[in-house]
Amino acid sequence: MPNPAKSWREIPQRYRLEAGKCTKCGAIAFPPRLICPQCGNREFAATKLADAGKLLTFTIIRVAPGAFEDQAPYAAGIVELDDGARLTAQVVDCDFAKLKVGMRVRLEFRRVSEDGAAGVIHYGYKFVPE
Ligand SMILES: [Zn+2]
Repeated sequence: MPNPAKSWREIPQRYRLEAGKCTKCGAIAFPPRLICPQCGNREFAATKLADAGKLLTFTIIRVAPGAFEDQAPYAAGIVELDDGARLTAQVVDCDFAKLKVGMRVRLEFRRVSEDGAAGVIHYGYKFVPE
């Protein structure tokens, strides 16, 4: 089950695509972290993620968990953004047969899921072929 408090806390980051850039080695962490996974540094500068990149890998989800049930089948991909950060998200507005590794995609802010009982709609980023 989605945790409402968690979703709420993540909205600003998702909306602005705000990431942390390590002041020591330049690694980009998204969502921002306290400790750099590359070098262990604890200082980050806020940075905005690139809004496009290339598809590294993808899979077609045919049986989806809970909140995503009504959206299956859908494609989930890992994308390397132009600034080197990697994100996992749904790939939408595409023909599955035309998806291929290395293709260009851009990030868009879309509805991710809806909590039927409470009518709460969650938003987040999705990838759309360029
Ligand atoms: Zn670092």
